[in-house]
Amino acid sequence: MSVSSLPFFCFIGLVTSQLRAEPTIAAQDPKKINRNAPAESSVTFSSVHVDGPYIAMTFDDGPSATLTPKLLDILAAHHIKATFFVIGENVVQHPEVVARAAREGHEIGNHSWSHPNFGKMSDDGVRSQVQRTDDAIKGATGARPTLLRPPYGSITARQKRWIHDQFGYQIILWDVDPYDWKRPGPSVVRNRILKETQPGSIVLSHDIHPGTIEAMPSTFDALEAKGFRFVTVSELIRMAVPQPSPPSPRTHGSVPATITPSPSTSIVPPPVPSPSG
Ligand SMILES: [Zn+2]
Repeated sequence: MSVSSLPFFCFIGLVTSQLRAEPTIAAQDPKKINRNAPAESSVTFSSVHVDGPYIAMTFDDGPSATLTPKLLDILAAHHIKATFFVIGENVVQHPEVVARAAREGHEIGNHSWSHPNFGKMSDDGVRSQVQRTDDAIKGATGARPTLLRPPYGSITARQKRWIHDQFGYQIILWDVDPYDWKRPGPSVVRNRILKETQPGSIVLSHDIHPGTIEAMPSTFDALEAKGFRFVTVSELIRMAVPQPSPPSPRTHGSVPATITPSPSTSIVPPPVPSPSG
């Protein structure tokens, strides 16, 4: 390469990075993100704005007769409280596992009776899924849940409102998804969680996959080494602090003021329906 051609290549580099940046800027259009924020902010959470290094680990689709007790042992060894979003069908098969989780200080949330897509169901169908699971959790633990995670994160704004009104539930989504249901191997699950987790994060995983359970000891070790503290989802929500008054709409989001927002995480929209959850 001659010296005279260098400026040309530098210019190409600039253009390339500008082009790469565009989709990120478009995805963060604050008008889109903020449109429904006031109405939904107290009902739906995919992360929580907190003043401290607190996060919530959540485990979906159990209980599993074998894997959930293994996870409970790991959580106990680390003195970590987690949140389990359980399937009603599984609760009535293994109520003793759910009872143990509750007794050991973990939170139990409703994840439907049989994992259907709420967004495509009638109100009566959704109500039955939620009520039967609510009853099953009450039967196993003695207490009714206060949190719902819709399967696949699929739920309409209208469903959120009437479920909140009728059941008193808060709707819990997530901002960290290691895609562990694809069974990518324990080290990938761990690395994805470590890369994405920040203060106030709600981390999604599933206690029905062996690799997820295998990933957790080193995941917890590494999160602890980074200074994170573990709480249940309801505890995390109770820690919520108001967002500082934003100088511009762009700073609205889930990232604490003490953390420098990065392009990929400064705004966390609720997940669209996905195979996760
Ligand atoms: Zn699920």
